[in-house]
Amino acid sequence: MTATDSTPASPSADVETPAPDLSSLMLWLSQHDAEVDLELACAEHPSPSRGPRGCEVVRLPCCAADLPDYSLAELLSYGALRVNFRLDGCRSPSTTEARWAPLVSLLRAVDLGWRVQMIVDVPSGRRREIHDATGMPLLRRRLLMLPDVSTTDLPDSGLPSHERLVAALRRLVRYFDPVLAGADELPGPSLFLRAPDCAACGVCVHSCPQDALSLVATGGNGDPQPGAQSYSLLQSPSRCSGCDGEPACVQACPARTLEVVGHRAWSHLWRDGDEEVVRVATVRCARCRAPFRAEPQRGEGDAQPGREPLCPACSRRRSRPFGTALPPEALERLDPEVVRALGYEPVVRSGRSGPS
Ligand code: SF4
Ligand code: SF4
Repeated sequence: MTATDSTPASPSADVETPAPDLSSLMLWLSQHDAEVDLELACAEHPSPSRGPRGCEVVRLPCCAADLPDYSLAELLSYGALRVNFRLDGCRSPSTTEARWAPLVSLLRAVDLGWRVQMIVDVPSGRRREIHDATGMPLLRRRLLMLPDVSTTDLPDSGLPSHERLVAALRRLVRYFDPVLAGADELPGPSLFLRAPDCAACGVCVHSCPQDALSLVATGGNGDPQPGAQSYSLLQSPSRCSGCDGEPACVQACPARTLEVVGHRAWSHLWRDGDEEVVRVATVRCARCRAPFRAEPQRGEGDAQPGREPLCPACSRRRSRPFGTALPPEALERLDPEVVRALGYEPVVRSGRSGPS
């Protein structure tokens, strides 16, 4: 199927549209024996047909700025020699450039930058056929029923966006290895985390939308107390997407100790394995049996040698058996006026408060 030069209606900005499906384009690319020079025109491009020969012009089902992250890596790994984005007819060229800047930087860092180009001025030339990215023509070899690439080789459209990006990059690494090893220095989307005062509560593990965190028991901590145990908070860098700059794990940490100290290199995205964020020695609370950090937490808890180990909550209950006590985390989050009305002194982050 060949698209016309007319401009398809742009999707309304208010309506959330599903990720554009480029599987037809990917299949078409993979059926070629040689790599293909692609020229991608946004859906709103008024007239991409005129230009130099040698490029296959493909009209996208959306603006190039709205393509998912993984699209570029998938196109390159499925047989695109070069991906040329036509910025001349794009509704927001600066947005499109900014959208692809991280991946373009990655490709430049490994000397593959020439495979992506942002074209602003297209020299007028012959009139060229425009393909529709969602309905590419069948190749003759496929029509003749010759052995071909099957649709099962295409990316799994059911994968979440970040996993699809990781899969596409892994495919690229197989394709270009060892060149991509040069990405060891370049910061990617995955975050470098630390949690010096981690209490091994596991809240961050449950809050991570990518299942990138896990809390695993790593054996006794050498403490002769019964119930002594070490836990490791692990992060799978390849699964961490960075949460678009708003890490859910950091926001969820009740101890306010989980923090971002930087970005991991791109190469972590295509490597397997976990990294240890922190190892926490815990003991089991003598009353409620819950494990808690062996050192006192911000003045709470009671795990000193020779004394009955109590978790922060049980320790507070013991200190005020006939009253109530708000945990420091709650006091930090309440309005200072409310805190004073409850008989406490307002606290700032990492501070501590008690009844006045
Ligand atoms: S930044 Fe997001 S994806 Fe990464 S570990 Fe934290 S919650 Fe998970
Ligand atoms: S980093 Fe924070 S949320 Fe995660 S286990 Fe440690 S204390 Fe809990």
